[in-house]
Amino acid sequence: MIERCFILSFREKKTRRVVALTEKMVVEGGAGDGEWEGRWNHIQKFLERPGPFTHPDFEASSESLQFMLETCKVLIIGAGGLGCELLKDVALSGFHNIHVVDMDTIDLSNLNRQFLFRLKDVGQPKAEVAADFINTRIPGCCVVPHFKKIQDFDETFYRQFHIIVCGLDSVIARRWMNGMLLSLLVYEDGVVDPSSIIPLIDGGTEGFKGNARVILPGITACIDCTLELYPPQINFPMCTIASMPRLPEHCVEYVRMLLWPKDKPFGDTVGLDGDDPEHIKWVYQRSLERAAEFSITGVTYRLTQGVVKRIIPAVASTNAVIAAACATEVFKIASSAYAPLNNYMVFNDVDGLYTYTFEAERKDNCSACSQVPLDMRFSSSSTLQEVLDYLTESSYLQMKSPAITASVEGKNKTLYLQTVASIEQRTRPNLSKTLKELGLADGQELAVADVTTPQTMLFRLSFTS
Ligand SMILES: [Zn+2]
Repeated sequence: MIERCFILSFREKKTRRVVALTEKMVVEGGAGDGEWEGRWNHIQKFLERPGPFTHPDFEASSESLQFMLETCKVLIIGAGGLGCELLKDVALSGFHNIHVVDMDTIDLSNLNRQFLFRLKDVGQPKAEVAADFINTRIPGCCVVPHFKKIQDFDETFYRQFHIIVCGLDSVIARRWMNGMLLSLLVYEDGVVDPSSIIPLIDGGTEGFKGNARVILPGITACIDCTLELYPPQINFPMCTIASMPRLPEHCVEYVRMLLWPKDKPFGDTVGLDGDDPEHIKWVYQRSLERAAEFSITGVTYRLTQGVVKRIIPAVASTNAVIAAACATEVFKIASSAYAPLNNYMVFNDVDGLYTYTFEAERKDNCSACSQVPLDMRFSSSSTLQEVLDYLTESSYLQMKSPAITASVEGKNKTLYLQTVASIEQRTRPNLSKTLKELGLADGQELAVADVTTPQTMLFRLSFTS
């Protein structure tokens, strides 16, 4: 069992801390407040006796519960649809030391499913309101909120946690978190030190579909190993949109992509704004006409807005299922009583209910976790633009706004950077230059920074003839 070394190491780490803590508590005279007789009966049944599904190395004891209540520190990323569910599930499972990070404030449209928020909370930071709610409702639980971006914290912050759970709706943020945990790994002679591993439990939902996965960074498949599973935004083939529409969405896309730029209904310079009701109304009317032409039904104002703004409706029950699966994994890993999910669970109740698990495989040359220098093969007459396109379009890399630097004649040179306007302007002419003209050589290292990872990635450029 590949993760066994990790589980044993986690348990050992845990036992040491619990022993130290027990000694301290004897001196201080007992456990904290908020406890009552039988409060953790339901949890104790799993931890204090073996069962048919317990881990082969399981040893029944009361230490696991103590570890969960007193020591184990869980970080929950996101306090939205998944985050609210996660906070509730993890807190009620006996974890008392929880941190939550979320950069958003509460919107009225959140209230139907983000059940820790009330009307009076609209406009307030999600993390703070969610933490207050849990702390008030669940005695002894201490949720520490952070109204910030994950990128605002460095490795010393992340290193303090035993387990990290992601309830995010952004692939970029997930990849960044994945990269951060990979950067914390300590390697000795090419072998990862299991005590440096912080498990990442990742939940994701989209409408009626969801997934939960367990990532042991450096051991099991990471987010970037399976990047192809996140397809680029759903786009319909242009030929379908232009000549053979079958779905109401095709009609809206036709108006959005072809009619709007041609008719310019609100003037030459006005782009389509999904938040402007006049714009949506125009697109809706034209879409209806298009639909009538092809006898397609189902074009509504709501659908039009959904297609234009690319809204995927959030479904409360999907969030509940996925969060429960993630919280169960937190419990299994923290207690070491059960083998964690290996390693990817898919849930789909679009049509009936379908769920299965599979083992996502690590990719030998994963750009994030493989420890293998990455090769980039280009002709010396290729332009920097071609390199940039490769970084953003390759399904394995899917970068967003890569900044490329190289050491040329002993000097560090920024070849292209788009996130700072003045540097973008200065480096833009480089895009049309060839690699040779830029002074790059065969075997040259290129450093690439991107929002998808906290670390700079090194590529070795080899020239094809
Ligand atoms: Zn990987």
